Amino acid sequence: MATNLPPEIERVLVPEAQLAAAVESLAAGLTRDYADRHPLMIGALTGAVVLLADLVRRLEFPLTVEFVKVRSYGGSAESSGELAWDLEPDAATLAGRHVVIVEDIADTGVTLRELRAQLLAKGAASVAVAVLLDKPERRKVDVQLEYVGLTIPDEFVVGYGLDFDQRFRNLPYVGVLRRAVYETS
Ligand code: 5GP
Ligand code: MG
Repeated sequence: MATNLPPEIERVLVPEAQLAAAVESLAAGLTRDYADRHPLMIGALTGAVVLLADLVRRLEFPLTVEFVKVRSYGGSAESSGELAWDLEPDAATLAGRHVVIVEDIADTGVTLRELRAQLLAKGAASVAVAVLLDKPERRKVDVQLEYVGLTIPDEFVVGYGLDFDQRFRNLPYVGVLRRAVYETS
């Protein structure tokens, strides 16, 4: 696999088989905790689409799929990390539901912390977070991640849904982007 890497990709960090194992471990945790709760699985667009598609096919219990799209501003320890909604769930969708946010990666933690708070404020009964990748070295705010597929070092990664400038989401593995790609231009 991945014998021909695009020139922008320095190396494969997480090959396909390891991604599949990470998804399986997320699915095991969710099955243990949500098999009787009909969760509302909310994918964070756009990065989480590949994970969400793979993950829900590993879950053999009733669930609902929705999407949100947010942009986060700030991210400093002092800022509240405000969210701008591009696609926002309404209160009727969330009312009384046990929500699982499905996200590609936790970096500073600002997006997930704020998203959780806002979904609770809009009426969700509970909110948990499932991320494929966690970069704990980059954390700026405390955020609880109930389900983590893999912990990775502080590298900018693309593939399996993750983009650089909207590219590389289609790579079947997670790769490290060459620094020259984002440090110039
Ligand atoms: P946070 O609010 O945790 O800093 O931001 C999380 C968002 O930043 C992710 O949803 C993702 O869009 C982006 N992000 C953080 N680290 C990476 C990375 O290594 N690669 C890519 N492609 N996006 C990242
Ligand atoms: Mg994202």
